[in-house]
Amino acid sequence: MLRFASSELTDAELALQAEVRDFLAAELPRGSFAPGLGMSAARDQGFSRALAARGWLGMALPRRYGGAERSVVERFIVVEELLRWGAPVRYHWIADRQTGPLLLRYGSEAQRERFLPAICRGEVSFSIGMSEPEAGSDLAAVQTRARRVNGGWRVSGTKLWTGGAHENDWCVALCRTSEEDDRHRGLTQLIVELRAPGVSVRPIAYLDGSEFFNEVLLQEVFVPDDLVVGEVGAGWEQNTSELSFERAGPERWLSTYLVVEQFLRERGAADERARVALGEAIAGWWGIRALSLSVARLLDAGHAPAAEAALVKELGTRFEQEALDAIWRLVPDDLDPAAESLFERLLAAAILGAPSFTIRGGTNEILRSVAARALRIQRADRVRPDSGEPLPSERRA
Ligand SMILES: Cc1cc2nc3c(=O)[nH]c(=O)nc-3n(C[C@H](O)[C@H](O)[C@H](O)COP(=O)(O)OP(=O)(O)OC[C@H]3O[C@@H](n4cnc5c(N)ncnc54)[C@H](O)[C@@H]3O)c2cc1C
Repeated sequence: MLRFASSELTDAELALQAEVRDFLAAELPRGSFAPGLGMSAARDQGFSRALAARGWLGMALPRRYGGAERSVVERFIVVEELLRWGAPVRYHWIADRQTGPLLLRYGSEAQRERFLPAICRGEVSFSIGMSEPEAGSDLAAVQTRARRVNGGWRVSGTKLWTGGAHENDWCVALCRTSEEDDRHRGLTQLIVELRAPGVSVRPIAYLDGSEFFNEVLLQEVFVPDDLVVGEVGAGWEQNTSELSFERAGPERWLSTYLVVEQFLRERGAADERARVALGEAIAGWWGIRALSLSVARLLDAGHAPAAEAALVKELGTRFEQEALDAIWRLVPDDLDPAAESLFERLLAAAILGAPSFTIRGGTNEILRSVAARALRIQRADRVRPDSGEPLPSERRA
């Protein structure tokens, strides 16, 4: 059984939505900045700090760590508005979405005190150090090794596709700390300083020439014991527990929203084919948004809806691509990525970025396996869905 339930925003949630819209219109008026596509938008620490000043970074974290103790749904509302606006979210994105909740759940008290208030103030940035040359979907194949030394660990290996490593401060790296028969054991999450001696970051140009991905070479990098997250050897469980939080958010179905909106602004909907494409896009968003909101409600209720989140990401990222294709088919012109028209620029960027939507954060093939396996476990009634064992290849990014 998948637990999707329809829900409406409450009056208080709608008031927050209005507050975010007013803030964006005042702080970041249209035309004053180059809007970006979803979580791939620009990096602007000043803007992240302005959000922090409103209590909109780390907003679901406890007050004692600088958070606002708001709900997952409230964060959903803020994120949805930021992404619909094309706001520059990249500086704080990973720290706010992922590292904060990870450290709250598994970090030591000292790590929480050190990092969470800084995340909530927009003063520290993180990357995700999971993928490696031979470990993408099959994350348990990671070969980066951490060797025990006096006072900590020496880390050696190569991380790949590490978004933002060339500009971020820290990276949570999944490392092998012991050899075990079961390769899901013996993995540990370490917080690696990206400017530490022994770390080399090599940018990898993306299709459009921009540099965001990196190869991160780690050569005998020292990580002190106090930067081990959670338990040594429990990295696999910790890693997979993040999945529900990172898979079903608005960033999984809003990446091409602005292309459609800007099409409407610049070219209108006089054409019948355009009306059909727009109607389908609106209907698609409405449905996926309802599913995504439903997952946020489940998280607020204390569930870990991994299968539901996997399905939302699978549906959402395919929808983002389909909405883009429908608009692209309406445009006969050759596209110029440097065109004066914002619509053309966004369309060109989205065409180059779209193949990655169904890869980043776990490929759609893997997500279907996650959902199918959770359903199979439920049918057999062997394990409660929330505690279903992860697939060997279960993956995120
Ligand atoms: C834009 C973007 C940003 C990213 N950012 C980060 C980041 O910040 N940090 C990070 O660590 N990683 C990041 N990644 C990496 C991402 O997580 C991996 O690309 C992804 O998990 C797939 O791994 P892979 O590229 O090694 O492909 P592979 O695992 O080699 O997969 C190749 C193909 O085989 C299929 N396949 C593999 N195994 C199975 C299976 N068991 N069943 C069915 N099909 C299967 C896959 O679905 C895929 O189609 C990013 C990727 C992208 C595109």
